[in-house]
Amino acid sequence: MMEQNLKEISQTYGQALWIVAGIFFFIGLVRLFFVLKTKSERNWLWKAKADWLVICIKCLFILGLIAFLADIPVWFVTVAQFRPVAPVGAHLVFVIVMFYIAIQELILSFTASNSLIKGFVKKMMFFLISVFCSASFLLAAFIVPGTYLYPSVNECVILELPVKGNWMAMHAGEEKWVNYHSNYPPQMYAMDIVKLNEEGHFFVNNGADSSDFLSFGDSVFAPCNGIIYQTVNGFKTQQIYKGEDTINPAGNQIEIELAAKQYLFLAHLLKGSLQVKTGDTVVAGQFLALSGNSGNTTFPHLHMHLQNKAILNDTNALGLPYRFKQMNRKRFVFWGSEENAFLIRNDKFSN
Ligand SMILES: [Zn+2]
Repeated sequence: MMEQNLKEISQTYGQALWIVAGIFFFIGLVRLFFVLKTKSERNWLWKAKADWLVICIKCLFILGLIAFLADIPVWFVTVAQFRPVAPVGAHLVFVIVMFYIAIQELILSFTASNSLIKGFVKKMMFFLISVFCSASFLLAAFIVPGTYLYPSVNECVILELPVKGNWMAMHAGEEKWVNYHSNYPPQMYAMDIVKLNEEGHFFVNNGADSSDFLSFGDSVFAPCNGIIYQTVNGFKTQQIYKGEDTINPAGNQIEIELAAKQYLFLAHLLKGSLQVKTGDTVVAGQFLALSGNSGNTTFPHLHMHLQNKAILNDTNALGLPYRFKQMNRKRFVFWGSEENAFLIRNDKFSN
């Protein structure tokens, strides 16, 4: 059997996006065709022919569609997982098609066909569909701003970045919509980050081997002053998408005690690369180890989190929020210099 690699997964994902976008576009065209065909039978809603129920239904639908339009870009910038895996072109086409459908529906919402206005059963069916669509779009609209909520500077431990160069957050933030770790209280606020090259890719060749990834073998630095609480250094490098070690999820790791009830974990490090041992004192910025692909991991990345108890798997432990003293960050379109910055999924950053 051929070995599955990340390039293949990326292509499949891209093709799926193109196909779904094509199907949606076709449905939109068919809808437009039938609307134009029945143009003469359609009524401008705010005129006398439409009764109050039809107007209510339409208002509900319009509200839902506006929420949907507002959600689309945010959803695709931050909520969508692993954005760099999908080819940029396919991603963009999908967003454009969604916009097209939503705008067309919004415009059509101001008119209604004769049969809709007169037939009771059709009217009720349309009412139920409108309630369903509006409720789901409005719900999404409530979720989306929530993904940008994060703890204030006062609540956060201020750290330095553990890496150098251009990186991206794949999972980060407070909400489970942008950070799968948040489902697990000790790893609330944990982040998984990957290094990017000049073109913004996080792997070269076909991504079948750990060495294809920019993060693999890159230097990891202490994000804070502290004492090394414990280290693990003997786990092998996993195969891409094959070797998730659920018994030793963190793989090779360094745990730093920053202060009372503050323990920082750096995980999935490269076997044999650790430069510190238990009891060592470290200062922020000190070289600690190389990033790797050990433990419960699908491809090379650096995992970092802060918790209030020393034992990694302590079910009573709680994840602590942190921010970074200084970084250059690109969230939507532009790069900006940020102080005390908090990362969320799909943020690109450098120091
Ligand atoms: Zn992680």
